[in-house]
Amino acid sequence: MTRSKMWALAGAAGALALVLSACTGSATPGDTAGGAGQKIKIGIKFDQPGLGLQEGNTFTGFDVEVAKFVAGEMGYAANQIEFVESQSAQRETMIQAEQVKLIFATYSITDSRKEKVSFGGPYFIAGQDLLVRADDTSITGPATLEGKRLCSVTGSTPAQKIKADYPGVELVEYGTYSMCVSALESNGVDAVTTDNVILAGFAAQPQYAGKLRVIGEPFTEERYGVGLKKGDIETCTKVNDAITKMVETGAWKKALADTVGKSGFEPDDRNPPTPDACS
Ligand code: GLU
Repeated sequence: MTRSKMWALAGAAGALALVLSACTGSATPGDTAGGAGQKIKIGIKFDQPGLGLQEGNTFTGFDVEVAKFVAGEMGYAANQIEFVESQSAQRETMIQAEQVKLIFATYSITDSRKEKVSFGGPYFIAGQDLLVRADDTSITGPATLEGKRLCSVTGSTPAQKIKADYPGVELVEYGTYSMCVSALESNGVDAVTTDNVILAGFAAQPQYAGKLRVIGEPFTEERYGVGLKKGDIETCTKVNDAITKMVETGAWKKALADTVGKSGFEPDDRNPPTPDACS
């Protein structure tokens, strides 16, 4: 290559870099929309079958499907989404630190979380329930857990509920539900508590077939919202419009049947919910 050709190439590369930086200049971290190939970072669970599950480079589950639909309505193709793991205790911080733009991670809308983040949705209603070993008939509900070892996840509403209402229960907290479920199988704990739809997904995994059982009497209401930056009404409105469209077109129902539905879980008649007003 001649010297002049090299300079011409360097000049072209420099011009391209300028164009690219101009495109991204106005975007906030986690949301670099504005040109082809730009990405949006979305927080999901990586270990919850039927909801948010990572298998190699593939992500499956109802949260993933709702995330893809909403991102699509916001102008992002599936290959422009970067999924990031957001464990229960890290969700508010990840939004506040702008590590992700949106979170779809079985994330219940609560007043105390609303002090730190805002929510689109809800897009699903679940309820707290219990998972036990299939042959254990001694546990029939939260009132029968006295003196038993119960596992839940740090920073989750189910762990909070047990601490507040059932102080006699020995609560073991892990970072993820998959850790709780393997502890249940190996007799490290006697039960796992979280949302019924999450527990149903684990119970239906081939390695747990016949070994684990969901009690099936939910005792809270968990309204799954889309976590986003506190006060970002513009994004919240886009999210809600997309959820409404997903429900109205039948895409919500199909996504649910293709994911959570495979575990045999039947959503109750509070579903699909209508999104709250953005605030
Ligand atoms: N929906 C509950 C929560 O947001 C439990 C599930 C979870 O930990 O992701 O805390």
